[in-house]
Amino acid sequence: GTAEASAGGARRRLIVFSGPTAVGKGTVEKRLLERHPEIWVSVSATTRDRRPGETDGVDYHFVTEDEFADMERRGEFLETAVVHGMAHYGTPIKPLLDHMNAGIPTIVEIDLQGARRVRQRAKELGLDVVYVFLAPPTFEDLAKRLESRGTETPEQRAKRLETARVELAAEPEFDVVITNDEVDRAADELWSVIASEYGL
Ligand code: 5GP
Repeated sequence: GTAEASAGGARRRLIVFSGPTAVGKGTVEKRLLERHPEIWVSVSATTRDRRPGETDGVDYHFVTEDEFADMERRGEFLETAVVHGMAHYGTPIKPLLDHMNAGIPTIVEIDLQGARRVRQRAKELGLDVVYVFLAPPTFEDLAKRLESRGTETPEQRAKRLETARVELAAEPEFDVVITNDEVDRAADELWSVIASEYGL
């Protein structure tokens, strides 16, 4: 198929890096990129306004609603989502394949819902993916991280505990589980998954 990433006979898989809300995906990914700047991380398209300090093409591809709709119609996204009921977000497919085909380790960092949509779409496309789940050391650790993000009514606390429980239950859907007990160690482990996929 056109979506197959292969070079020199080796079939390289896209790395999907996901996990519960507040588990620390961004921090681990940042550490990984500091150590291995040769990795390429997918840049999403979005219809939301650019914030101060953001660069078009680096943080996001900032597009209009019409441009986004055209891209969607042309099948240019691996997955899309509407966030906060307003802005559209999508992961463009072509840059992923181009980087993978060039032998460049390629990562998509995405939430659990997004990872499920990638799974569905990748099947249709015949795209090989390694699904990596970043897990908290314990349930309590994740619950604490979620709580520290919000206010402290008993209802909200209960809701966050439930969120933590539901999100952790997604773990068996993943090929690789990395525990975020220590950022450096977790970044090293993610690197070894990538290195073995890309023969580095
Ligand atoms: P922000 O607008 O604050 O940069 O991002 C809002 C939310 O959109 C975040 O949770 C972020 O992870 C999510 N997001 C960004 N890009 C994509 C994408 O390509 N696909 C999906 N499903 N979510 C995205």
